[in-house]
Amino acid sequence: IVQMQGMNKYFGTLHVLKEIDLTVEAGEVVVVIGASGSGKSTLIRCVNGLEEFESGKLVVDGNELAPKSGNPKALAEIRKEVGMVFQQFNLFPHLTVKKNIMLAPRKVKDAPETVANATAERLLNRVGIGSQADKFPSQLSGGQQQRVAIARALAMEPRLMLFDEPTSALDPEMIGEVLDVMRELAKEGMTMMVVTHEMGFAREVADRVIYIHEGQIVEEGKPADVFDNPQNERTQAFLSRVL
Ligand code: ATP
Ligand code: MG
Repeated sequence: IVQMQGMNKYFGTLHVLKEIDLTVEAGEVVVVIGASGSGKSTLIRCVNGLEEFESGKLVVDGNELAPKSGNPKALAEIRKEVGMVFQQFNLFPHLTVKKNIMLAPRKVKDAPETVANATAERLLNRVGIGSQADKFPSQLSGGQQQRVAIARALAMEPRLMLFDEPTSALDPEMIGEVLDVMRELAKEGMTMMVVTHEMGFAREVADRVIYIHEGQIVEEGKPADVFDNPQNERTQAFLSRVL
């Protein structure tokens, strides 16, 4: 569902992504790990066009994004098909939880109010917070807010979900409830790209783990292989710091 070939991305003179080759199959869960500043966020932000890239090829669900975002039509398609969840939940503070979830289906898909409402209720139950529908985001815990953010992304019926450190801003006791929702999604067959420092989650849920060092994929494989038997010395050093 995602194909990257020889992708390069610069911020000014900083070469942030270097010749990235990466394929994600439908139904796959790919976890991206690496040190701070290695380019993990930039990599997944490229997938839904939040960042432009300078050269190489990127195809998402059959839509090819040209370098320097030269293809607005493909970009619009991709935005509809790819859901994203950030470290900061980015909910609309002036809207109730339910309205947060209804907004995109109403605006982008022109879904009737009743349909969007039913979808929102179903999704809120699915992420375990059906009773919070009429509260405002500020009235919820961080873990609950992040589950709303996931429900909001799911309301667009995405074919791919991107997660950028979805639990990094949470108090420790709330991390589990968010990871549980993600684990369920993975089980149901959702295609996911996840940047996380939760190595236990990566080991258990990932089909593939990718280690990025200074903008390059230096190691990639099944979690058991990458975690227990890393081949690259950079990966070994990183894992010995975080595990
Ligand atoms: P972290 O684990 O801290 O989130 P990361 O692996 O997600 O790090 P990125 O956010 O992708 O790293 O950043 C990669 C590099 O690009 C870093 O050196 C960062 O300073 C730089 N960078 C990121 N965003 C921008 C920007 N908008 N403008 C200029 N430089 C940027
Ligand atoms: Mg990041």
